[in-house]
Amino acid sequence: MYSEQQQKQLQQLTTNLLSTQAINVQDKLAALPVVDDLHQVLKYHDWRYYVLAEPTIKDVDYDYLFDYLKRIETAQPDLLKPDSPTQRVARGLSEDFPTVPHTVPMLSLAKAYKPDDLRDWDTSVKKLLEEDEIEYIIEPKFDGASIALVYENNLLIRGATRGNGAEGDDITNNIKTLATIPLSANFAKAGLHKVELRGEVVIHKKKFEQLNKDRAAKGEKLLSNPRNSAAGALRQKDSSKVAERKLEAFIYQMGYAANNKAENQLYNLATHGKSMQLLYQQGFKTPLTSANDNSNVLQGMEAVIEACNKWQAKRDAYPYEIDGIVIKVNNYKLQDIAGATSHHPRWAIALKFDAQQAMTILEDITFQVGRTGAITPVANLKTVNVAGANISNASLHNADFIKDKDIQVGDTVVIERAGDVIPYIVRSIPEKRDGSQKPVEFPSNCPVCESALEKPEEEIVWRCVNMECPAQVEARIIHFVSKNAMDIAGLGKDIVKRFFKDKLLQRIPDIYQLPYDQIQTLDGWGEKSVVKLRDSVAASKDQELNRLIIGLGIRDVGGTTAKLLAQTVTELEELANWNEEQLMELPDVGPKVAANICQFFSNEQSLRLIKDLKSAGVNTHRKESEAASEGGQFQGLIFLFTGALQELKRNEAKKMVEDRGGKVVSAVSKKLNYLVVGEAPGSKLKKAQKIETIKIISEAEFLEMVD
Ligand SMILES: [Zn+2]
Repeated sequence: MYSEQQQKQLQQLTTNLLSTQAINVQDKLAALPVVDDLHQVLKYHDWRYYVLAEPTIKDVDYDYLFDYLKRIETAQPDLLKPDSPTQRVARGLSEDFPTVPHTVPMLSLAKAYKPDDLRDWDTSVKKLLEEDEIEYIIEPKFDGASIALVYENNLLIRGATRGNGAEGDDITNNIKTLATIPLSANFAKAGLHKVELRGEVVIHKKKFEQLNKDRAAKGEKLLSNPRNSAAGALRQKDSSKVAERKLEAFIYQMGYAANNKAENQLYNLATHGKSMQLLYQQGFKTPLTSANDNSNVLQGMEAVIEACNKWQAKRDAYPYEIDGIVIKVNNYKLQDIAGATSHHPRWAIALKFDAQQAMTILEDITFQVGRTGAITPVANLKTVNVAGANISNASLHNADFIKDKDIQVGDTVVIERAGDVIPYIVRSIPEKRDGSQKPVEFPSNCPVCESALEKPEEEIVWRCVNMECPAQVEARIIHFVSKNAMDIAGLGKDIVKRFFKDKLLQRIPDIYQLPYDQIQTLDGWGEKSVVKLRDSVAASKDQELNRLIIGLGIRDVGGTTAKLLAQTVTELEELANWNEEQLMELPDVGPKVAANICQFFSNEQSLRLIKDLKSAGVNTHRKESEAASEGGQFQGLIFLFTGALQELKRNEAKKMVEDRGGKVVSAVSKKLNYLVVGEAPGSKLKKAQKIETIKIISEAEFLEMVD
């Protein structure tokens, strides 16, 4: 996509844009070249971030540049181009999706299940094409949702679902929210003025798991698998919801290419492999690993079979769901000669991997109590091996899931395990019932503390609402010490469980009163491990306020909301005085979250918890590092430090400026607002003294400004 030289230039351009004073956005003549620069730079960083997953710019700097471009476009609407990086923005609700015909029908592929199927197919292809050996190209068969993209005169003009193969739904607005799909690409360079691309929209396995964790925490219905959730997301009517699902698109084929004179220009690219390289160079996410990657081009079927075996072996470790390998004749002319039946092309075939499903008996169901009291039914399965792993239990999520899948205790069920995604119950097999099965009875009381369960009408999860429920208390302690919250490394999940069982740890504040003498005598503990534990507990007293807020475990308050709250108040207890209306004025806080926060701070047990943590010495104040950086005291101001500072370290000083919205540069120029002078300043001071507009201040004066 970018040569090293180009990348260097773009990186330099980024630095220049960041360190130059913003222009007057009303000044069109000045804005024109800046818009071009911003386009280039943002497009480049999008590619580094989304396609390579190797960003070279800080988020805040990216946001600054993005915002800069937006401000210019607002002031100068005629400078807004359809492929501007700012146009990758979710639009509001759309009508039903109109149906659009595909330029070339999207046929399905013939299927093979074993190497001999591939050998038979190879024989028929060789006969058809009158060749002794065929050059094939292979790619993983992504298990997602198929799409077709049309680019005309370098611009993305349409994105559609596969639909019935002949026509699909126009989902252009939703497609535009996928950052891996370039809004424009230089096909003109290859002499093409219209192309249709084929691809698959997928979700990274890890992102999918996180998505479901978040949904579970909110009591929302879980997504069954990455494929369905990608397909579902693409058809969301509200395109801002599409963005939430973190979709990516792999482009694996150029289905159609035309220039102004002739329709079929694929021949000019000679092979499928070459067209993929072109797409890679234009910034698309493709199965290739580099711009010249041709490791997927193979001579003859035996080489293909060997490569397929390697893929099958690494399938689980691959970060995206794949369910097979697609094998294509590489040469476009040969593809054309082979042609297609009414169902599928004769020049391609899909080898399907072994099914990752197995049947087993659901022996019993246990009900687990989570941190928020949510009751999760878990199926105890007769242990079964699915794709190399022994599975003996699987989540049943909630009562609706059990009802939807018609699951009974004693049923034969189908388990699916794809990659390292958590095992999933696909369905029950009611035909196998012998009369011994029993309907699942959802408990009406908590299996741990026996208090009555409750379920608000709009939710699908039953909850134990007893704050003192031991299962919840234990889960809350585990959450409090976890990596995302107070991060007490010496106090892992298993240790908490043991201490809880031994009654060394009954409530969160007990963490700060652990009986270390007693712990030292426990099995597996010694002086060293106790010191380690004591140190990590002590260190956690000084954690940032937002981590404490996460640790409190307020329902629906995750990292983002916690940071926002910590930026809003200077002291945790202030939140107790906020009402729902005030909370809802904060960005990203809706009525549900606001109600949960208010409920938490009006609960006496919560207030006692906070009081106890405070008296144990846990920090409840906002730290400087948590202050909001946008719109701060130094917004738009540029600082430079020279000479040796006495009070502050150089990077502390820098952070103080940045935290307040200012910027620190390394050279004197007319754009500089403040030169902060320490001891033994060098030439920078002399240079700055010649420029009237620069204010020269001492470190003490700087510190005064900050206070
Ligand atoms: Zn309970």
